[in-house]
Amino acid sequence: MTGPDKDFFNYSYSELVDVLAKEFDATKFRATQLFEWVYRRGVTDFDQMTNISRELRVRLADRFVFPVAAVNDRQISTDGTRKYLFEVEGGDLVESVMIKQPNRMTLCVSSQVGCAMGCKFCRTGTMGLKRSLSTSEIIRQVRGVLEDAKNFGDSFSNIVFMGMGEPLHNFDGVTRAVKLLTDPIGLGMSPRKVTVSTVGLVPAIRKLAASDVSVSLAVSLNATTDEIRSQVMPINDRFPISELLDAIKAFPVGPRKKVTIEYVMLGGLNDTEEDRKRLAKMMRGMPVKINLIPYNDNAGLGFNSPSREWVYEWQRYMSSQGLQAFIRWSKGADIAAACGQLATNSKRQSRLPVLEQAAA
Ligand code: SAH
Ligand code: SF4
Repeated sequence: MTGPDKDFFNYSYSELVDVLAKEFDATKFRATQLFEWVYRRGVTDFDQMTNISRELRVRLADRFVFPVAAVNDRQISTDGTRKYLFEVEGGDLVESVMIKQPNRMTLCVSSQVGCAMGCKFCRTGTMGLKRSLSTSEIIRQVRGVLEDAKNFGDSFSNIVFMGMGEPLHNFDGVTRAVKLLTDPIGLGMSPRKVTVSTVGLVPAIRKLAASDVSVSLAVSLNATTDEIRSQVMPINDRFPISELLDAIKAFPVGPRKKVTIEYVMLGGLNDTEEDRKRLAKMMRGMPVKINLIPYNDNAGLGFNSPSREWVYEWQRYMSSQGLQAFIRWSKGADIAAACGQLATNSKRQSRLPVLEQAAA
């Protein structure tokens, strides 16, 4: 990059304080005002920031830009789930999903264009990795969805990094975005309501644990033996189950908080009677809750979905073993918005004029 970054959404609060002090001889209070306008009120037009002097506003407008992720496409599922195709830098396309649940909406954002991890049951994995998203490109997805949510009179209460990509393979981009989302002067979300889901990059989990970033963690375990896990998740050859469990045990969680263990049930492969016994044994005594995710066979990758009855059986079994287990049935499968279905070809497509967003 030549010259200082003009993209406002790449700056943390403390970095903004520094820039304003150095380049504008302005106080910390100005940074607070700017953050409030942008993240609290969604205002990015300096003309509207009336508590800042005109002279300073003119100089700031020259220094900062507020890029918008154009909505390239939006689809609405019969179950109320909405999928957005956003255009980010260089015409790359990423997907974000607003998942409708009984009493809340969860926003699922992407962290990378594609993914390098190559899990065999996931469509994003078949894309390979093009690149990681910048913090701004992650924030742009959030802002884009918030803007469109006005048309529906709703919003989200939770954000999960479970879209395209492996969030901990984009450690800086993602943790900086998490900070903006949870900063009381930023979007002000509770760290309990922001979840990073990882394939199990052990060193990155440990780095996150040691950092000053407060966020909820979900780990995609998806198997109970190294043999099967390596077969479907190549990353297991580098970080086998025992190392992963150690990293999870060492992850700091608050007193009433748990790490989420995701378990995609691949019919006949990792959901046998022995598997559920091993899983229960493995999880006993750990501060975790389990999300059972029936394989979404719309991903079309040759695995089988378990029967509904068997999924309920597993849930009952986990409860009988004193473990908390939830079932995550596919949402938005009819619009290819469900787990494992996200994949884009990063070509410029014609935009839907009706969804064109107002330039910032
Ligand atoms: N890369 C991160 C986050 C994105 S994937 C991770 O792997 O955790 C989000 C979740 O979707 C993961 O738990 C993953 O195992 C699951 N998933 C992937 N493909 C799926 C499919 N076809 N059916 C059901 N869940 C799937
Ligand atoms: Fe990447 Fe997660 Fe898909 Fe694996 S499941 S390929 S880590 S997005």
